[in-house]
Amino acid sequence: MIEEFVDDDGGYLRWLSANPAGFVVNAYRRPTPDYLVLHAATCRTIFGTPTRGRRWTADYLKACSPDRSDLERWAREVGGHLHPCGRCRPYRLGGSRSSQTVAIVH
Ligand SMILES: [Zn+2]
Repeated sequence: MIEEFVDDDGGYLRWLSANPAGFVVNAYRRPTPDYLVLHAATCRTIFGTPTRGRRWTADYLKACSPDRSDLERWAREVGGHLHPCGRCRPYRLGGSRSSQTVAIVH
C-alpha cells in the first residue's frame, strides 16, 4: 500500500519512523516520468532535518511503501520508472524477494 505525502512533513516523518525498512520515492508535486528517485527509508538525504530550512513535502511529493514493487507500479502509472538513489542504493535492500535485482545491480 502506498501513502503519498504532500504538505505533510509530520505524516511523512511518522511514516519513516514506523517503516524503517520501507521505501520512498521522491517526485515533484506533480510527478513527472523523468524524476522519480527511489530511496531506502533510512537514506539520510530524505530523513532528519531538511537542509536550508526547506520542508520535505512542500516542493516534492513523497510516495512511501513498505513494498518496493508497489512503488514500481506507481512509477509505471506516472509513465516512467524508478531511479535508484546513489547514496542509499535501495536495490541492495529488501530481503530475498529482490535477490535477482540485487544480483543485477551488483
Ligand atoms: Zn537515498
